[in-house]
Amino acid sequence: MKAKAVVQMMTPKREEGTIASHMESVLRKLGEDTDREGLLRTPERSEKALKFLTSGYDVNLQDIVNGALFQVKHDEMVIVKDIEFYSLCEHHMLPFFGKVHVAYLPNEKVIGLSKIPRIVDAFARRLQVQERLTQDVAQAIGEITKPRGVGVIIEARHFCMMMRGVEKQESSTVTSAMLGAFRSQRATREEFLSLVRHNSLSR
Ligand SMILES: [Zn+2]
Repeated sequence: MKAKAVVQMMTPKREEGTIASHMESVLRKLGEDTDREGLLRTPERSEKALKFLTSGYDVNLQDIVNGALFQVKHDEMVIVKDIEFYSLCEHHMLPFFGKVHVAYLPNEKVIGLSKIPRIVDAFARRLQVQERLTQDVAQAIGEITKPRGVGVIIEARHFCMMMRGVEKQESSTVTSAMLGAFRSQRATREEFLSLVRHNSLSR
């Protein structure tokens, strides 16, 4: 007969120095009783969540692209709008989230469209500031496709603004990065802006 697993409500043994063991200390410092039922596995869940939310550091861009670069003759603007993202602000380790709009002017090469959201995730799943995330995505698209220009706009809301201190729940922050033709040619920039303009988090 197989032994039945006994479910016991007790604090799991934690290896010292793990994120989970530190999270247990944090909870105690916050005045919590880490032996109460709801918190028993919280340090482990928290560790797992934090590792996932920072898993972008381990991502290799070439692995994402994985050969999905295609020769093209056209040179019309490629635009992927409304890419959802979730990141953690590096100042408070609280979420910020919103939408990314990516556009580029191909120079003989285009990247598979599904790869662009994955590139966004790779940089969003780190401790970030919105401005750097915007630049990181633009630089990556630039390095991979060697286009004539790249434009990236991010509209985001920050929990550190919404939940604490100033409590500006309705405010959103918009950042942009314009490289190559998107920087030097007003018409290109405006084409991109007009294509994303009607998008808004407050919609
Ligand atoms: Zn913050």
